[in-house]
Amino acid sequence: MKVCVLTLFPELFDPFWDHGIIRRAVLGQKISPFTINIRDHARGRHRVTDDRPYGGGCGMVMKPEPLTAALAEAKTRMPAATTLLLSPQGKQFDQGLAGSLASEDELILVCGRYEGVDERFIDQHVDGEISIGDFVLTGGELGAMVVIDAVSRLIPGVLGNADSAGSDTFSDGLVEHAHYTRPPTFADAPVPDLLLSGNHQKIDRWRRETALIRTVLKRPDLLVQRDFTPEERATLMKWRRDIDGLIG
Ligand code: SAM
Repeated sequence: MKVCVLTLFPELFDPFWDHGIIRRAVLGQKISPFTINIRDHARGRHRVTDDRPYGGGCGMVMKPEPLTAALAEAKTRMPAATTLLLSPQGKQFDQGLAGSLASEDELILVCGRYEGVDERFIDQHVDGEISIGDFVLTGGELGAMVVIDAVSRLIPGVLGNADSAGSDTFSDGLVEHAHYTRPPTFADAPVPDLLLSGNHQKIDRWRRETALIRTVLKRPDLLVQRDFTPEERATLMKWRRDIDGLIG
């Protein structure tokens, strides 16, 4: 996937491309990211990218001309790209949206700053707006990194083990089961015996059951619309009986 980020702070992305799984994805050519500095497309000696808002009020607004010129440069390199603006007013980013974006070949992410972006640029050039949560950041760069990170790990071949994204939290509407590693006992807390048994059928079942129970305890909202499998129903019924037994 080709990913272009339009930003006033391209240097923020250098360490991001250069670490961990993202670095591996870049080296393996699973993602080809680059930034375009919006300021390079501003006119005049001072290369101004923002101006006061019409109608008055505080803050500055990103001018449409430099954004449009920066986008035009991006489009020469990736003409079929979808253009998304990071914005607190956008569609809430989640694992489902990350999955859909992972199948795109080309993506352009536009990072706002100040009070935001001149509306005419949005109307004329933006295919969609994405929010990374109900809070307001100073700029879209962290949001763009969040989107690129979550999307990249869903591109086939980016994660070492093809299965590692498959059981992740949200992938099947549940939070994931607990993880343990060595030592077998840490601070008086042992690893559940079953995980040391070598019985992979039982381990898989334990993981499915505990994922369900953890979801009940941590994120019951995820279960509201869920069509429970017979196994999940049986697990929940057993829990209900156990709890009934406790309270008598
Ligand atoms: N005045 C704008 C508003 O109230 O909608 C907020 C502008 S914010 C200070 C500056 C930029 O940060 C935005 O243009 C956007 O690119 C980015 N941003 C802020 N919060 C965000 C969020 N929750 N998700 C994605 N991008 C965000």
